[in-house]
Amino acid sequence: MMPLLENVTMDEFAEGRKECRTVILPVGALEEHGSHLPLGTDAFHAEALARQVAECIPVWVAPLLFYGLCRSASEHPGTVGIRSQTLHSLIKDIVRGLYRQEMRNIVVLSGHAGGTHMAAMIDACEQLVPELPEIKIAVVSVLDIGSAAWNGILETQGDSHAGEAETSLMLHLRPGLVKGSAPEEYPVFPRYILVRNKRKFWNGGVWGNPGAASEEKGIMLMERSVRALVELIGRLEAWFEDDES
Ligand SMILES: [Zn+2]
Repeated sequence: MMPLLENVTMDEFAEGRKECRTVILPVGALEEHGSHLPLGTDAFHAEALARQVAECIPVWVAPLLFYGLCRSASEHPGTVGIRSQTLHSLIKDIVRGLYRQEMRNIVVLSGHAGGTHMAAMIDACEQLVPELPEIKIAVVSVLDIGSAAWNGILETQGDSHAGEAETSLMLHLRPGLVKGSAPEEYPVFPRYILVRNKRKFWNGGVWGNPGAASEEKGIMLMERSVRALVELIGRLEAWFEDDES
């Protein structure tokens, strides 16, 4: 297994990058996850997934970027987000830095799946494609991976935040941090209108059904996610675009 990027020496890295030029950058969020899950849920999930993938294939795992852009949960206790401009700059600087260190296949793996958060990161990376000629880059959330890979495991329709999936995952990954369960909730925000008082529309901070969660499901969700991400990295490494086509 490749050692974690923050643990190697300069010489070990210089040697290691001759063999491996693929790196995962896990991104999280410090965000409410209902009354029962830790604020770091998304970060713990992304980091665990990246590290488990690194046990299967040669890939560097960069240190976790713990903060992300939070909209719907921004008024709930504990959520600390960063602006899209900040996220955009951070992602660009870190990816440029990894590229400068001869990384060529880069996977930005986000544990937080908010649409605006993902859009900011995708836009940042789009700008890097023409700038860094040899880069191959993928931007993907754990829910993007799960949408296909988790088929048949989850019972809840539209489960997305602190519900069946994330509660199951935390019961598996950080059981000591799970404080019981929380009521099922499916918030309805007004269409198109940006609301000031977000808790009025989403009191409990859950989207889905935590009551359907189990540690066993968490284990299965992780296994399927690892397999799907290994497959994606294989496709990225083999990706080739003919300049003349
Ligand atoms: Zn989450």
